[in-house]
Amino acid sequence: MFRNRFVCRRCKAVMRTSNMKVLAGKVTCRSCASHAFKPKRKR
Ligand SMILES: [Zn+2]
Repeated sequence: MFRNRFVCRRCKAVMRTSNMKVLAGKVTCRSCASHAFKPKRKR
């Protein structure tokens, strides 16, 4: 199903976390503290 990989929209850092957390906005980027993520589609 979904890969638990998300890319930060601001700094392009790849985070590995559950997609429920991302949808709930509980994930913070480690390097830029942004909350905007998009799922990484391509492998
Ligand atoms: Zn970031």
